[in-house]
Amino acid sequence: MANPIYAAMGTSIFEEMSHAARTTGAINLGQGFPDEDGPLDIRQAAADALLTRSNQYPPMLGLPELRQAVAAHYRRFHGLEAGPEHVLVTSGATEAIAASLLALISPGDEVLLIQPMYDAYRPLVERAGGVARFARLDPPGWRLTRAAIESAITPATRIVLLNNPLNPAARAFDREELETLARICIEHDLIAICDEVWEHVLFDGRAHIPLIALPGMADRTVKIGSAGKIFSMTGWKVGFVVAAPDLHAVIARAHQFLTFTTPPALQAAVAFGLAKDAAHFAAMRGRYQVSRDRLAGALAAGGYAVLPADGTYFLNVDLRASGIDEPDRMFCKRLVDEHKVASIPLSPFYAEQPVDHLVRLCFAKSDETLDEAARRLVAGLKG
Ligand code: GLN
Repeated sequence: MANPIYAAMGTSIFEEMSHAARTTGAINLGQGFPDEDGPLDIRQAAADALLTRSNQYPPMLGLPELRQAVAAHYRRFHGLEAGPEHVLVTSGATEAIAASLLALISPGDEVLLIQPMYDAYRPLVERAGGVARFARLDPPGWRLTRAAIESAITPATRIVLLNNPLNPAARAFDREELETLARICIEHDLIAICDEVWEHVLFDGRAHIPLIALPGMADRTVKIGSAGKIFSMTGWKVGFVVAAPDLHAVIARAHQFLTFTTPPALQAAVAFGLAKDAAHFAAMRGRYQVSRDRLAGALAAGGYAVLPADGTYFLNVDLRASGIDEPDRMFCKRLVDEHKVASIPLSPFYAEQPVDHLVRLCFAKSDETLDEAARRLVAGLKG
């Protein structure tokens, strides 16, 4: 018989809404992916590597040039001291998270998850033998406070899983919040697994602060990144782990029996891309920021209460504050069926007491798509 964790669940909310978009012919502002492919020269580098280089198993830890490139990239952008020996290449960030949880959880260990939380976290923790404990952050500020974190810590807590910037809240935690979390990790002897896939998708001049760089955290943090989000190519599934040698070694053991390796041509192309200059990344952020402002502006003008978005491809609208009484799932269903826009309700990102008056919209789309989607959303507000 099937494992009850999977038997009891449906398909992910992202797949559900993309499926609804396909069947209704709706504009898809649900699942987070840009409607343009990433940089042509990186895709060309992948094509060249596919034709001219080995297509056999690369080293289990990743192509040496990519491990080198990841370390150099983080040194340049975030001042990290890590070298290539601290880097492990994975098949996307989700595999990196899975490998980290499999490697670090012993049966019965408690893992702190922070709601709203990405949908994969809880089943991964539970299938790895962990016990999920839930903290929660409240909209619209989504502040990570000591009280929120400590409410879910017990003597059995071993790991905290942090997503920063936080999907779906579009919140980038500030230094004070991260220092609080770091202090708590040290006081309770916790390991932090940091899903930082949105580290480059930050707006309004914000700088990403990796938890691993804070005092006392280098040896107790697993930092996870992903080329998919860095280069706007979400289908590539090339991720990386940065961790101190003890953590790195055991996560590599789990990785070797999950996917073992990642397509070498994509690894070579990502190594090429990570060496791009700061202007490239600034321009990428600038384009998404313009799109954020375009969608937010059109929705606000049409009567929606729009929450701030510090980073990610997403912004949230507050249904209640926009005068809509419907719960989020019902609104999203009506929106896709009657107004042909797919979106993501926030309630599935909660294990308990869901916030059900917020809806996430992806703005990583062309101006025309955003304008038409906003027009339909505003029509949806009126009934
Ligand atoms: N990360 C994507 C999002 O938040 C979803 C990826 C997926 O569908 N699993 O929209």
